[in-house]
Amino acid sequence: MSERLDIDVLTIFPEVVRAPLSESILGRASDEGTVGIRIHDLRDWTTDKYRKVDDEPYGGGPGMVMKPDPFFAAVRDLQKEKTSVVLMTPQGRQFDQEMAREFSVSSKHLIILCGHYEGIDHRVVQGLVDQEVSIGDYVLTNGALAAAVFIDSIVRLIPGVLGDERSPIEESFSVEDGILEAPCYTRPADFEGMKVPEVLLSGHHEKIKEWKRNIAVERTLENRPDLMP
Ligand code: SAM
Repeated sequence: MSERLDIDVLTIFPEVVRAPLSESILGRASDEGTVGIRIHDLRDWTTDKYRKVDDEPYGGGPGMVMKPDPFFAAVRDLQKEKTSVVLMTPQGRQFDQEMAREFSVSSKHLIILCGHYEGIDHRVVQGLVDQEVSIGDYVLTNGALAAAVFIDSIVRLIPGVLGDERSPIEESFSVEDGILEAPCYTRPADFEGMKVPEVLLSGHHEKIKEWKRNIAVERTLENRPDLMP
């Protein structure tokens, strides 16, 4: 049985993170206690009456910058013995399935920092952050959606979270050689003249396996040739 993973998220938009993590598989993982996700409003660690989390950038430039002090106060309050602090940022290491697996296996407690505006005062990176993570080469308005994506992909890999233990082994990026998964079908066998490949109805496991492998290679070459070994 795996140890429980605890996650604290610091954001100025708690509801944006909460909603996608409350439904379906992720919601059940929280209800069953496999994962403990707490989503905090960063403004709870401000000390002024306006609960101010941003200020103008030194050196000029557009937009506002998130102040360091609420992040430092929050992380100092929340950190435990085995905490890893992760900053969601487009400047981080690009996230992928292998990283999701590493986080799901090795993390005990994550504190996830979400930026907004122009970003976060760099002293937060220097003084608090263990890993900077980007979910892709594009810029979002806010780190809350990135945090939800990051958490979803990690939590679903914790043993017992997905109904079938084979699911995370037989899916894209995880099947043999890290290529894409074969396409899937369900009833009806004939939908508006589009038929399910005959072999999938044959019950012949060896032939089905061979077909899946061939079509997975075909689709990977078509959509993601960069994944081919
Ligand atoms: N000015 C920053 C830059 O150019 O690197 C971008 C700031 S972005 C508008 C605001 C916040 O959204 C960031 O602090 C970060 O938390 C989050 N964010 C935006 N794109 C992201 C991405 N691709 N991956 C992870 N977080 C992202």
